[in-house]
Amino acid sequence: MQLYLLGTGTCANQLTKNGKKIKNRFPPGYVLDWGENKILFEVSEGIRFRLEKAGFDYADFENIAISHCHPDHYNFMPYLQSVYCKGLWDQKGKQYEKLKIQILCPNQVAESYRKIFKLLVLEIKKNHYDFPEISFTKLGKMKFKTKIGRAQITVQEVHHGFGKVETLAFRVKVDNKIFAYSADTGDCQGIRKICKNADLFLCEASALIGQDKACRNYGHLTPYLAGKIAKESKVKKLLLTHYIGLDSESSMLKDCQRSGFEGEVKVGKDFEKVKI
Ligand SMILES: [Zn+2]
Repeated sequence: MQLYLLGTGTCANQLTKNGKKIKNRFPPGYVLDWGENKILFEVSEGIRFRLEKAGFDYADFENIAISHCHPDHYNFMPYLQSVYCKGLWDQKGKQYEKLKIQILCPNQVAESYRKIFKLLVLEIKKNHYDFPEISFTKLGKMKFKTKIGRAQITVQEVHHGFGKVETLAFRVKVDNKIFAYSADTGDCQGIRKICKNADLFLCEASALIGQDKACRNYGHLTPYLAGKIAKESKVKKLLLTHYIGLDSESSMLKDCQRSGFEGEVKVGKDFEKVKI
């Protein structure tokens, strides 16, 4: 399996600290590719440009996983419009007309889709374009497992947005390798289950160092908390993402190692590729 990091940042950029500019990174977006198929995790603003830069045809994703409905993860309508218009205008248009996209997501995302389409595309009476065909696989609540080819996908509900925002963490097992991903989450049972014995755990670390208690109710993790979860769940390699950037890379690594996690830990950067 190959993981592409296409957005390790958050919903803000051009940040400064002590008069120093913080390097910009893109909002969340990741591709997991296992040869036979691939999944795009999160559709944030401008994801199509980053997919193109990484060598993908942005209109060639049959499987998209969206963790929750916050706009830095779920900016789906501009993406959908761009796939549709590519199909209308590109010389390979016929190919895109046949595209079927399955969206793996919580109920709240699936239910909001129709309303958002109606609000933004007023001229079309139906609640979809002529293509691509969209289907939703609603996960969490009742259904926790699905399959894409030989990939076994499991989800857990995690704590985020004071518990008001249905949020999923994902686990993908292909052959004997396990990849786990959690977007926004606090420390909870779900996150520990999803990353158990994972070969690679891509985990948010969007709370600043020292905010361990402050971020508990809202539902985010510091590098220390991500390390603690990885340690207790026996993760092999931890990759931190969705971080603001105000804490330096070395201080994030130090904070993570303070948890006692002894596996490999890295701070992810945009456009890195990681083999699993
Ligand atoms: Zn969120």
